[in-house]
Amino acid sequence: MWNVDQSYIDGRFVPTVGEEVVDIVSPATEEVIGRARLADREDARRAIAAAKQAQPGFGKTTKAERIALLERLQVSMLAHADEIRDATIQEYGGPVARSQWVANFAAQCFGDAARLLPTYAFERPAGLDGVSTLLMEPVGVSGLFAPWNATAGTMASKLSAAIAAGCASVIKPSELSPLQAEVFTRALHQADLPPGIVNVITGRGIDAGAELGTHPDVAKLSFTGSTPTGKLIARAAVDTMKRVSLALTGKSASLVLDDADLSSAIPLAIGTAFMNSGQACVAGTRLLVPRARMGEAIERVKAAVEALRVGDPADPATMIGPMVGRAQFDRIQHFIRRGIEQGATLIAGGEGRPQGLSRGWFVRPTVFADVRNDMDIAREEIFGPVLSIIAVDSEDEAVAIANDSPYGLQAYVFSTDSFRATRVAARLQAGTVLINRVAPDLLAPFGGVKQSGQGREFGIAGLEAFLEPKTVTRG
Ligand code: NAD
Repeated sequence: MWNVDQSYIDGRFVPTVGEEVVDIVSPATEEVIGRARLADREDARRAIAAAKQAQPGFGKTTKAERIALLERLQVSMLAHADEIRDATIQEYGGPVARSQWVANFAAQCFGDAARLLPTYAFERPAGLDGVSTLLMEPVGVSGLFAPWNATAGTMASKLSAAIAAGCASVIKPSELSPLQAEVFTRALHQADLPPGIVNVITGRGIDAGAELGTHPDVAKLSFTGSTPTGKLIARAAVDTMKRVSLALTGKSASLVLDDADLSSAIPLAIGTAFMNSGQACVAGTRLLVPRARMGEAIERVKAAVEALRVGDPADPATMIGPMVGRAQFDRIQHFIRRGIEQGATLIAGGEGRPQGLSRGWFVRPTVFADVRNDMDIAREEIFGPVLSIIAVDSEDEAVAIANDSPYGLQAYVFSTDSFRATRVAARLQAGTVLINRVAPDLLAPFGGVKQSGQGREFGIAGLEAFLEPKTVTRG
């Protein structure tokens, strides 16, 4: 049994003072595998005070010192990658391959941030008359919020940018991932960081999270989570005029152009729709297919989805693990029922658990054809393994349907003509467009347009999200 009852404050593990204790439940077996004491507002205040004390000194560190810290963090994360992977499997139900990817990605974030620093100019000329200098200064104490579907990855991507910029931080992982947060924090502790520059408090959003989101000593919030919570965060932050970056909900479209090679495009489209068991903000859950090629596409999708192995996340053959918990399981069942009620055609999966799995929050990978873009399953983020196929009659219609969404996180284009695909990408309202691939470029900016967020993470844009420009002009 796991027992998570400490917060990480000022370089030490200290007893969490919050009084609420929750069970950690395996989503694969529904058995209790541990208990976690959740941090409250007082824990948050202590963590913020530690970060505030560390900030002035940390903000003055040199590039070389920050690079050394980031490299130590990369080494430490790599050394703990197996533990991070195992915690992701046990607590979240992430399949082995995905959980291993997340653990390696966490280490890579620190290495990538270290690679950015040598050539980044924190001081540079400004204006055109030679009288001004621009100083890119750390914005200050930062509150970093992580969702439950990408705990180690989000903690690492935000923390690496904050450290590169010279910002002390308080990380608030989701109350649904105390075990993953604890294992990650033990790894970062081994990197022997100066006290106070990283603090971790796992608690509820309305409690520890709200304190972090409104405290006057916090200058910057970097939030990853749902759009409704992102709006609450942004509203609450305005009173103290915090700088806010929001990485939010997605409802991504995958556009198969009429010249696409379906033998390569459909496996990639299935890969993005069902990645992370469908619990992914960037999942391509609307598949737009030319009507003339629909028969062939459906045949390929159906075969590929029926071959997806659902089950024990610790089994390397498993491709779809359980949903994180009962609420998520119920949400997916609701949307599958809505798809049927609103007239979409079920071509794979459906309601209930997969055959042979009577325990655990497993759902059937599900595909609907004949979906219209005004149906709930096409408009709302389901956050589970449910794919909607929409027929289109032209490239223009595909672009119009892809853009007809309140969200705009990541889109995918499949075509054998790279010039044409690039032209289509230019017309899509999305923070990122991937052409004939589903793996992102982790040193390029990532973020959403419209209600998928504001600001960018990763690469130089991600670093600058933790910097404040100051102009010095000489007379
Ligand atoms: P969520 O919005 O419920 O919670 C995210 C974080 O905010 C958690 O740490 C939570 O405890 C905290 N929180 C909740 N209410 C709060 C409040 N009032 N004040 C302060 N903090 C609060 O999201 P979730 O359910 O954990 O994650 C799933 C969502 O995250 C999906 O919508 C998904 O698309 C999105 N997501 C987006 C990205 C991206 O990069 N755009 C990446 C992963 C997940």
